[in-house]
Amino acid sequence: MSEKWQQLLSRLGEIHDLEGSCAVLGWDQQTYMPPGGNQVKASQLATLLKLAHNMFVSDEMGELLEDLEAEMKDMPYDSFEAGILRVTRRAYDQAKCLSEDLVTELAKARTLAFAAWAKAKQESDFSIFRPQLEHTLELKRQQAEALTYTDTPYDALLRLYEPDLNTAQVALLFTQLRERQVPLITAIAASGKKVDTSPIRQHFPDAGQWKLQLRLLELMGFNMEHGRLDRAEHPFTTSFGIQDVRLTTHLYPTDLCSGLFSTIHEAGHGLYEQGIDPKYERTPLANGATLSVHESQSRLWENLIGRSRLFWQHLMPILREIFPQQMAGVNIDRMYQAVNEVKPSFIRVDADEATYNLHIFIRFELEQDLITGKLAVADLPEAWNDKYESYLGIRPSNDAEGVLQDVHWSTGMFGYFPTYALGNILSVQIWDTMKQEPDISAALLKGDFKVVRYWLRKNIHAYGRMFTTQEIAQRVTGRPLTVGPYLDYIETKYKELYGL
Ligand code: ZN
Repeated sequence: MSEKWQQLLSRLGEIHDLEGSCAVLGWDQQTYMPPGGNQVKASQLATLLKLAHNMFVSDEMGELLEDLEAEMKDMPYDSFEAGILRVTRRAYDQAKCLSEDLVTELAKARTLAFAAWAKAKQESDFSIFRPQLEHTLELKRQQAEALTYTDTPYDALLRLYEPDLNTAQVALLFTQLRERQVPLITAIAASGKKVDTSPIRQHFPDAGQWKLQLRLLELMGFNMEHGRLDRAEHPFTTSFGIQDVRLTTHLYPTDLCSGLFSTIHEAGHGLYEQGIDPKYERTPLANGATLSVHESQSRLWENLIGRSRLFWQHLMPILREIFPQQMAGVNIDRMYQAVNEVKPSFIRVDADEATYNLHIFIRFELEQDLITGKLAVADLPEAWNDKYESYLGIRPSNDAEGVLQDVHWSTGMFGYFPTYALGNILSVQIWDTMKQEPDISAALLKGDFKVVRYWLRKNIHAYGRMFTTQEIAQRVTGRPLTVGPYLDYIETKYKELYGL
């Protein structure tokens, strides 16, 4: 390999080190940092991000990229070299648009707005968060202008997470989802069927729940030599590198499923990061492809496996061992029904599989209006509540269970929410493809869920950031993102459960 190639890898490795260090600070912020540590953390993060940004947008980097693109133009599309150059070029062109001032301001605003949001949520008072959100939005608008767009500034922000999707394409997919998903939920509500959720709403002591989370990670094959599970207010996963992947969860004493599904979900993300080809470490390929693909992995584990009858059949003996009293007299039928109750609810992360996407449509619509200025921040709580009333037939009674529930906007993540619903769509496309292999179905019947991890690793995880969402959909499932399989899946499952 040429000297220039080695130079590029060495620079990218150093930038990756800085970004990984930011991830450590970010993880600390949401797990163990005392509230008073916030100000100094904001400076540290801003300094590291500035260093990484400046190293990345340097003229030397631009020249190296240009020379190597010419030198390696005949490399196959899915080669390590072509992948690195493609992903680096995309990020470089984006970063080049942003001034050092804007990058620093965004980093500072992120830390301060996060603190304001946490306090506002705790006190259920949107006014505490409002000035920080207004400032963040102003910066996000500047960022969108700097990144440039054709139709709407939201396109520029969405592109940061989904390089090959635009607002109109996402809106079309969501319209197609709405057409069948909303009537399904209306029919479920009209059925009048009440689900007995008492088996999962008992007192489950914390020590037992923690033990259960570790058993789940073992079942899924999450590698604890290269990962950890901790607690956070808002569960998330972060990677410091392929060899160090951090999961978080949140346990509630009278709810078995909230923690359980958070852990499965986050471990789905974690397995993706751990499954990336080790030779990609310290390069821009050492992360999941996109947020939608990432979410397809967590959703596949959480919903298609975690909410299936088969999974609970294998989980019941473990639950009986850890919670013998609570599980006395509870059979698989009651449990399967209880974990699949469909009920419009205020909190997105606790939403059932059937109503989940509706929470996303609401956020997708609101954040477009916030970015374009059609909706003023001061009017956001009311607009939020109105949408919940119209989509889900319920109206939040306070800001904590309404507009303040999610962390995303406080950290400047506009354009992120749609990726959750896109991940849902892709998860079923992938699942349908995977299940066509006879070995997989046979292993699942025996409770061997690690075969899923192997298949996903071979077909998706190993490639890291090599491909985009649509490329992965096409390569793995033979077609682009398509809502059909997802809608067929939820209709079949919930019509049976609710006798429709
Ligand atoms: Zn997720």
